[in-house]
Amino acid sequence: MEILKQAMTDMGIKIDRQQIETLTAYRDRVLLWNEKVNLTAIKDPAEFEIKHFVDSLFACTFPGFQKSYKIIDIGTGAGFPGLPLAICFPEKQFVLVDSLNKRIRILQEVIENLNIRNAVAIHGRAEDLAADRIHREQYDVCLSRAVALLPVLSEYCLPFVRAGGFFGAYKSEGTEEELAASVRALRILRGKVETTMKVSLTGINLNHQIIWIRKTGNTPANYPRKAGIPTKEPIK
Ligand code: SAM
Repeated sequence: MEILKQAMTDMGIKIDRQQIETLTAYRDRVLLWNEKVNLTAIKDPAEFEIKHFVDSLFACTFPGFQKSYKIIDIGTGAGFPGLPLAICFPEKQFVLVDSLNKRIRILQEVIENLNIRNAVAIHGRAEDLAADRIHREQYDVCLSRAVALLPVLSEYCLPFVRAGGFFGAYKSEGTEEELAASVRALRILRGKVETTMKVSLTGINLNHQIIWIRKTGNTPANYPRKAGIPTKEPIK
């Protein structure tokens, strides 16, 4: 975990030996489960450290994340980016969501086994959960990585965020087109691009960035539309 430790120092995060042990055990459990259920294409432990852990943790460099308390991760898969963040920021609360129950059951096993007290994994589709008042506009931050293009992802994620909070979309570089296609969706859903932060850390070659979108008001009640519609008919 030497690469991770260095990256965390560069990002200004202090973690203790117990947290490193938890991250190591989490990686090992995901790789073990991966032999039975498809969770990740990344099997090399060093690559795992960079592409899953460092990448996930990069959100912590944004002031809006630092000030947040309740965070939701949509389409979390094997727990990225939410679970590494939960391990490193025990004072914050994390809800991890995925529409595939098999992955959620594995995450629940990992959370219980590693005694991670500030994270819960729930099964559901973003479109359904965002219509539920338990979740709607209840979060300071919504995060999502590798789930959909920005116009669709904004419809999944912005309804979870309270006015004044942030949606952080993890993206590869070259997102100008996606941003250009999202102008109307962001206006309707009440989002405004605040900043784009590129992963820039010594010795780490990740062409990744997080687009941070501020929630400017309440999302109209008719969004998100019914499950499946945002992907079939993205807001144009
Ligand atoms: N975020 C993880 C990562 O970066 O490794 C997983 C990415 S995986 C490519 C996309 C995940 O999004 C899948 O686990 C899928 O089940 C989930 N997903 C897709 N559409 C969804 C929706 N509408 N609501 C909730 N989860 C969804």
